[in-house]
This record gives sequence, structure tokens and C-alpha cells, in this order.
Amino acid sequence: MATVIEAMQGDITALDLDAIVNAANSTLLGGGGVDGAIHRAAGPGLLEDCEKLRGCPTGEARITRGHRLKARHVIHAVGPVWRGGAHGEDELLAGCYRASFALAARHRVRSIAFPAISTGVYRFPRDRACRIAVIETRRFTADSLALAHVVFCCFDGETLGLYRAELER
Ligand code: ADP
Repeated sequence: MATVIEAMQGDITALDLDAIVNAANSTLLGGGGVDGAIHRAAGPGLLEDCEKLRGCPTGEARITRGHRLKARHVIHAVGPVWRGGAHGEDELLAGCYRASFALAARHRVRSIAFPAISTGVYRFPRDRACRIAVIETRRFTADSLALAHVVFCCFDGETLGLYRAELER
């Protein structure tokens, strides 16, 4: 069956899916935005797991258990800081999605939610980030039967509108 790909507005920490993706920083030791919200909701066990990983380069991802979250796994993806677009930002952001899908496949994840990685304090233009997210998701799901459900969990209505428009194209 084809993968269901959809956008919704809400708090990613509340979702009852196999995995949620965190927009982490390269220390993996927590931060603001969605990262802080995920650590607060998951409890201190998540930080203990993250400490063992000893960081993650930009454009890559790591996986931990979900602890107190409903999600069984958290995939910590490190997006690029936007520096004008000529510093490999697009490829690094695409790398986050590819690495997240590779980990999801390895851990038999059937349902996964992504936040709009890099579009908060990392200032990646939202429309551009949204396009990359949808392209990489379509690319992965075209070749894989493993994923049943991909959710783009948007915190605000404007981001939701961008994803809805991109998914309709
Ligand atoms: P980054 O450092 O990668 O830019 P941010 O956490 O600052 O990460 O922002 C990434 C996106 O996550 C933004 O669109 C922000 O509005 C959104 N966001 C923040 N909190 C949540 C949450 N609880 N659930 C889903 N998305 C969130």
C-alpha cells in the first residue's frame, strides 16, 4: 500500500506514532524550540541516552528510545543553520531527511512525524525547507514499502499552509 503523507498542525511531542524526529543541534544535549519540548516531554532518560551518543554532525541523525513519549523512538536530526544558501544548506537539510528515513527503516518504524527542521532559530527559509522535506519524503517512500504513514507536524498555521500546498503539487 502507498504511504500516507500528510501535514497537520500541532505539538509533535503529543503524537502517538512509532517515531518522532527532533530538530536537534550537534551536541544532542537539548536546546530550545522543538528540541526543548521533546526533552521536557520525554523526561531525563532521553538526555542520558543522548549523552552516550557524543554528538552528531550537521546533516546526519541518531536514534534513541522515546522514554516517556508515546513515540517509541526519537530520531535526532541535526539541520543546518541558514547562512545565505551557498554553504551546502540544501544538501545538509536533505541529508537530515535521508538519514532519518534510513534509521527509521533499520528500526522497523511504520509511522513517523517530522517538525519543520531548521526553520526556527536556524532561520532556513520555510518554503525552501518544506520543498526539500517533501521531495526527500516522496523519494524515500517511492522505493520503500516499510513506511505506512509520514506526518509533517507544523507548529504554526503558515507552515501548515506551505506543506499542504507542496503536497498538493
Ligand atoms: P531549528 O533549530 O532546527 O530551527 P526549532 O525548534 O527552532 O529548530 O524550529 C523548528 C520548527 O519546529 C519550527 O517551525 C518551530 O515552530 C517548530 N516547533 C517548535 N516547537 C514545536 C513542537 N512542540 N512541535 C512541533 N513543531 C515545533
